[in-house]
Amino acid sequence: MSRYDLSRDEVGAILADVPRFRADQLWEGMYRHLAEPSEIGVLPRALRDRLRSTPELAPALQVERRVTADGGLTEKWLSLLSGGARIETVLMHHPSHSTVCVSSQAGCAMACSFCATGQAGFGRHLGVGEIVEQVVLAARSARATGRRLDNIVLMGMGEPLANYASVMGAVRRVVADLGIGARHVTISTVGVVPGIRRLASEPLQVNLAVSLHGANDELRSSLVPLGRRYPIAELVAACERYVAATRRRISFEWALIAGVNDRASDAAELAAIALPLRAHVNLIPLNPTPGYLATGTSPAGVRAFRDRLASHGANVTVRRTKGRDIDAACGQLAASPVGLAPRTAARP
Ligand code: SF4
Repeated sequence: MSRYDLSRDEVGAILADVPRFRADQLWEGMYRHLAEPSEIGVLPRALRDRLRSTPELAPALQVERRVTADGGLTEKWLSLLSGGARIETVLMHHPSHSTVCVSSQAGCAMACSFCATGQAGFGRHLGVGEIVEQVVLAARSARATGRRLDNIVLMGMGEPLANYASVMGAVRRVVADLGIGARHVTISTVGVVPGIRRLASEPLQVNLAVSLHGANDELRSSLVPLGRRYPIAELVAACERYVAATRRRISFEWALIAGVNDRASDAAELAAIALPLRAHVNLIPLNPTPGYLATGTSPAGVRAFRDRLASHGANVTVRRTKGRDIDAACGQLAASPVGLAPRTAARP
């Protein structure tokens, strides 16, 4: 349970014995000013002291470690949750914007072979407040360096569409109360087809990123076991429905693995899927994880694959890897307390 699980009425009920405007001040302090209840200066000191020991207002995340990389431009937090689960949250600062990568589950049941989270297995779903609290943590940190948190990507630990109700509850909360536009929120999925269909009917205009990684069923299923349950034809049909309903462009994520999915035939198959959907393709050179021995495509190979895709007419970019030195890059989040000695890496 997190204070960010509470509705406005529930906050009002906690403060039922004081004037109503105090509940509004508490709410504004928590969401607009990103403050701890005990830091909200407009509240009387006695009330702040009381709020500090109010169990419903306690934080859900106990940050055990914060590490930085890229000259301080990437931050990763390891947080302990109730019941002993651990999650990681990564904040990345770019010249023009700051983005937080948020976890939606402790661990993940999808077992994608190349992903450290999948290698560790599933822990539990996160609640709405635990997801929102990660965003607040990052927004506070961004503000401390004079920046603003612009974007939220649900690409951390877990499969967001397998925890649909909490993820959408959190998205609604950050849009309505933290003031981050739905168009600045991206939900990633490894291909949970019923979740994509459901998302297509949501009024919120969030972005959808589909982790494809293989453009034929045999290859995709070898990397993403969920591909056996939802073959590519079914996944593409759900994507078509999403695009038709929302008129928004989806993106396909593609972790480039040397000799596995970086061949000319892979580029041709991927382009054949992406083009009719007018999808954007994000190429991510595979980041190393302990449980997967294949290596990422070389920088020259990445450029060649990008150029091949572009020559087929696909809209493609290469995602710049951040946080690799602190195991904070895509596919590396494991929330292991082992090896957590702070490591600060220089910007490459
Ligand atoms: S890539 Fe995403 S869906 Fe697959 S195991 Fe990792 S966290 Fe889960």
